[in-house]
Amino acid sequence: MSTPYFKNKCVTQLNCTYCDSVLCTRGMKAVLLADTEVELFSTDIPPNRTVDFVSVCYSTKTCKCKLRDVACLKCGNVVGYHVVAPCTPCLHSCNNGHFWMFNSISVVPINRLDASGLNLLLWGDLPELDDLEGEDQSSQSEEQYLR
Ligand SMILES: [Zn+2]
Ligand SMILES: [Zn+2]
Repeated sequence: MSTPYFKNKCVTQLNCTYCDSVLCTRGMKAVLLADTEVELFSTDIPPNRTVDFVSVCYSTKTCKCKLRDVACLKCGNVVGYHVVAPCTPCLHSCNNGHFWMFNSISVVPINRLDASGLNLLLWGDLPELDDLEGEDQSSQSEEQYLR
């Protein structure tokens, strides 16, 4: 379930640094607990129309999470990774349900605005995940609006 702390975070659109295509319209700035120097963006919905897996599963030295790199479908550059199977400590510490990560160097974040166009769109404003279809379609039309 949603944790209150991230409801006040901005929703960001993430564009690919390399080819400028939109990778994700529900991005959230995140900092890895294990390594606070690393800046990441995360999302809760699989961005499966914009990225694809490029490697086999691997783990890092810091923990036992099973990860898999993902690359931009348009230009093929690796832009982040998917947590295929989170390890127990991570599951308990970062339980915002975001298992798709983007490297900050691979994406250009753009803060989204709410319907009025005046305020930043916050995670608390987003519809719940069971409204996934509707949110997906509205973000498509927003994309065109932004361009
Ligand atoms: Zn882990
Ligand atoms: Zn790209």
